[in-house]
Amino acid sequence: HLVLLGSQVAALSYGAAFKGLAITPFFLQTSASIWPLAPMVAVLLGLFGFSLMAMEQIIARNESGARLDALTGLLNRGALDMTAMGLVARWQRDGDPLSCLVIDVDHFKRVNDRHGHHAGDQVLRDIAAALDNSRRASDIAARYGGEEFCILCPHTDEHQATALANRILRKVRAIALPDGDGPGCGHASVSIGVAQLHGGPSSREGLWRSLFAEADRALYMAKTRGRDQFVLGSSMRPEAPDDAPAPAAQAEQDCISPA
Ligand code: GH3
Ligand code: MG
Ligand code: MG
Repeated sequence: HLVLLGSQVAALSYGAAFKGLAITPFFLQTSASIWPLAPMVAVLLGLFGFSLMAMEQIIARNESGARLDALTGLLNRGALDMTAMGLVARWQRDGDPLSCLVIDVDHFKRVNDRHGHHAGDQVLRDIAAALDNSRRASDIAARYGGEEFCILCPHTDEHQATALANRILRKVRAIALPDGDGPGCGHASVSIGVAQLHGGPSSREGLWRSLFAEADRALYMAKTRGRDQFVLGSSMRPEAPDDAPAPAAQAEQDCISPA
């Protein structure tokens, strides 16, 4: 800006003099007119606006970069947590069903061990793309860490979420691994735990943690049952004894219910 300002001042003040015109520099004029300054001011304002736009773009790029996982392009863990808080708040306010899928790649260590981390990274990218292509626009897909992913599904109950789980299982099975031999090789697979938020601690963070924990327990069960499948969190809840309080009454005692 300073270079431009200097050149504009020089051009305005002395430029005409080179052409033989006797022009007093505007800053020496007694009754100085502001009009010679108009082009300079316009250019400076333009530059100022351009700089603001460029800065805004850089800030926006940095912000979105800070929310994304560098390897897969899905949301990262921090962004997932923040988004989850908002969705849990909506569940508390409106009772809008909220489901969660926790997804872990099966026998992923073998891929790394046999083909190196570079090939492993490519498989992770392929699986992330399969998740991203399976979800609805309103679902939130994130890389939770390592070879674990999470999808949050607003407006979705546990049974509706199973349709997504089935789509993911199908799409991931179509991903070819670098080698085709051996058990657990040939094609990728994932195990999935599915859970729906019903209640729990009173804080949003506590509710989010309990939803994730239930899906995580279901995921562990899917691993135990042989991998490449999903398990519903509700199927793992202990059966309520006959004299136990009904779920609604229990919710009033120690849970926050959506309505
Ligand atoms: P399981 O079916 O029980 O989940 O077995 P697994 O081999 O997938 O699980 P384990 O926890 O033993 O191994 C996970 C592996 O994922 C180990 C770790 O090196 C690898 N891993 C985690 N993050 C990355 C990554 O960003 N890139 C690559 N290439 N590998 C990763
Ligand atoms: Mg894992
Ligand atoms: Mg794994």
